[in-house]
Amino acid sequence: MLTDYHLHLRPDDPGTDAATYFTAANAECYRTAADKRGIAELGCAEHVYRFAQALEVWRHPLWRESAVDDIDAYAGFVREQTDLKLGIEADFVAGREDQMATLLAGRDWDFVVGSVHFVGEHAVDHDGYEVYDHRSQRPDELWRRYFETLGEAARSGLFDILAHPDLVKLWGGRRPVPEGDLCRFYDLAMDGIAESQIAVEVSTAGLRKPVGELYPAPAFLQMCLAAGCPVALSSDAHVPGDVGRDYEKALEMLERLGVGELAVFERRVRRLESIG
Ligand SMILES: [Zn+2]
Ligand SMILES: [Zn+2]
Repeated sequence: MLTDYHLHLRPDDPGTDAATYFTAANAECYRTAADKRGIAELGCAEHVYRFAQALEVWRHPLWRESAVDDIDAYAGFVREQTDLKLGIEADFVAGREDQMATLLAGRDWDFVVGSVHFVGEHAVDHDGYEVYDHRSQRPDELWRRYFETLGEAARSGLFDILAHPDLVKLWGGRRPVPEGDLCRFYDLAMDGIAESQIAVEVSTAGLRKPVGELYPAPAFLQMCLAAGCPVALSSDAHVPGDVGRDYEKALEMLERLGVGELAVFERRVRRLESIG
């Protein structure tokens, strides 16, 4: 059985309002696209920062301009009007773990996707809040901080799935990249990942970004597998046409690394299902 658990029902652009995109007809478009690609298990994971309640966790400028929708209306819509699993993509914000735990608690998610998009106040994947604006910052320092934060995110226990694990590489050669063997950075996250036994996301989204690679790099995934972590497979689609996109490349990597099962979630209980 194939999964796509990291779906957004709308693009990230401003003006993509809930009333237009959180509809049964739109969810059906994602289901139809998944059927064509043989993907049975679908879940949506809208960005937490687009919901007003997220401002109780963090008041970053991007969040303040984006947090307009109601998180309970979203959850109710998914449960009542779609056949998708109910997830959310929640940022790891260092120092705000208790507030995020409160936000996530009391809502009956099937799974919570945990993401590190920010290092401090700056985003690794958003050119409006670019971490790379600090020209003096050497890539090694940024990568060190990113992977340390990723390990903390796993260790926090807030999340079921660790999203796009090496997102920091997104810009490819358009931003400075450390030289040499990158495993020295992956290592910084491994204690937290191993301790938490979190499901590690294999995401095809990186293939659609300047870097043009799967997340994570095979060497990083191998380290997670050696630590005993299962894999969650996703596309991070923001439009129906990207559901399950490039899965043949992800499946090829998984087969090469001996992965025969994927993590499946229901009400935050995990089980493994054969890819088949
Ligand atoms: Zn993300
Ligand atoms: Zn996402």
